[in-house]
Amino acid sequence: MSIAYDDDQTTSVPAVVEHKLLLIDGRHVEPASGRFFKTLNPATGEVIATVAEGDEVDVDRAVAAARRAFEGPWRTMRAAERGHILFRLAELMKQHADEIADLESRDAGKPIAGVLRQDLPAAIDTLTYYAGWADKIHGEVVSTRSDALTYTMREPVGVVGAIVPWNFPLMIGMWKLAPALACGCTIVMKPAELTSLSALLIGELALEAGLPPGVLNIVTGPGRVVGDAMVNHPDIDKITFTGSPGVGRGIMRGAAGNFKRVSLELGGKSANVIFDDADLDAATKAAASGIFFNAGQVCSAGSRVLAHEKVYDEVVERLTARAKSIRMGDPADRATALGPVISEKQMKSILDYVDIGRNEGATLTTGGKRIGERGYFISPAVFANVKHEMRISQEEIFGPVVSVIKFKDEADALRIANGTAYSLAAGVWSRDIGRVQRFARKVRAGTVWINTYGYTDVRLPWGGERDSGLGREHGTAAIENFTEPKAVWMNLNV
Ligand code: NAD
Repeated sequence: MSIAYDDDQTTSVPAVVEHKLLLIDGRHVEPASGRFFKTLNPATGEVIATVAEGDEVDVDRAVAAARRAFEGPWRTMRAAERGHILFRLAELMKQHADEIADLESRDAGKPIAGVLRQDLPAAIDTLTYYAGWADKIHGEVVSTRSDALTYTMREPVGVVGAIVPWNFPLMIGMWKLAPALACGCTIVMKPAELTSLSALLIGELALEAGLPPGVLNIVTGPGRVVGDAMVNHPDIDKITFTGSPGVGRGIMRGAAGNFKRVSLELGGKSANVIFDDADLDAATKAAASGIFFNAGQVCSAGSRVLAHEKVYDEVVERLTARAKSIRMGDPADRATALGPVISEKQMKSILDYVDIGRNEGATLTTGGKRIGERGYFISPAVFANVKHEMRISQEEIFGPVVSVIKFKDEADALRIANGTAYSLAAGVWSRDIGRVQRFARKVRAGTVWINTYGYTDVRLPWGGERDSGLGREHGTAAIENFTEPKAVWMNLNV
């Protein structure tokens, strides 16, 4: 096999790295381009694999395979059998837990302890939850006329294009794959180019679990080529996307071509609001993990901590102490809590924001520096004296940087919490039950955490509006996302 590489990537490739092919129609196939790109371990900067660079031709092949599988084995299979296959995949994921976790940790720079505790169990939970749904999706008989039988059915939308980001490749990939498959859809999935490996492994395990060829196709490669080809493809019926608002906007425009269904999970600048009667120890502990978990590369990261003026100094002090005490290091070490950020580009962007914050007049109380020269490690940063209008308070940094903003009363806290382009999540800390309930009602957020922060569960809807997205994932919302209702009329007098 001859392998060509992108010219702009200069990192040398060790002799033993694996070459990852596309997964189309149940087979590993060479990309039409004949090209491969390198994928690095963010903790070391070393190449861990080369990955097939798919293009429009591969997307066409994958969509054709997905369409055949949709019209053929997947659609005609008993719904319960579809569920069994998904349960078997969940079992295989449990059996391969260490291998999956190791791969995800090396590919995305995630501390392995976190992958084993959070990403992998959440992915398996998502899969088993929707496996259980496969044979419970049904319509209803609706009373209309006495001479007619009228009822509804829910039918799979068809071929789904799933576009996944790099911050939770396994878990977010499963958020899309599991409900789409349970509903009887087939999939063309594009992982983020920085983190393609776990998707390819899941694709292989899915075949082993009995998924018919063509039901799940994985086309790796650049978003502007593979993703764009999917968005514009006339035979893809729905795009489910998680990523940045900029790309999300382009997807809505592209999807207009054949009126594809679109669901978008985008960015966030979530406020974690601490009132003066809050349990400050619990609040600041959760606020620290709310921003520093996954090195802040979390769409719902509590990147703005709003603290009441009476407790502001104490909140800053406690957050600073917590930031200093987080154990950063090798993601393969099970004691590591904080790993690197995903790439050199992301690291530079985060460090630029640290400079922006300083130049805007905010006070950096700790962190915000590159640590070491190998890998992309940034020490967790706390900015105090942040004003609501500053860029570090308005723009998504997507790194381990928290802005602490002072407020004077409930109305002020709400004004600031609601004062960005985003609306994904919010937290509120207070012992006053009326106040937290008023806040939960008035805050613009798809998820509100009261005296806690950061939990998600596939049984609850997930998503936001405006720059945070369109539609919801999880729970019954995802079943609606991947099915279309059909109304049937039958004349009883013929
Ligand atoms: P991104 O938008 O750059 O990339 C996301 C995916 O889209 C990748 O697979 C990428 O290859 C693909 N893509 C890029 N250009 C494309 C194009 N023109 N057409 C189609 N696909 C294209 O985002 P990212 O940097 O990978 O992820 C970070 C962003 O994702 C942040 O804004 C974050 O908040 C958001 N995010 C949101 C959620 C959520 O649930 N709301 C979860 C994780 C990440």
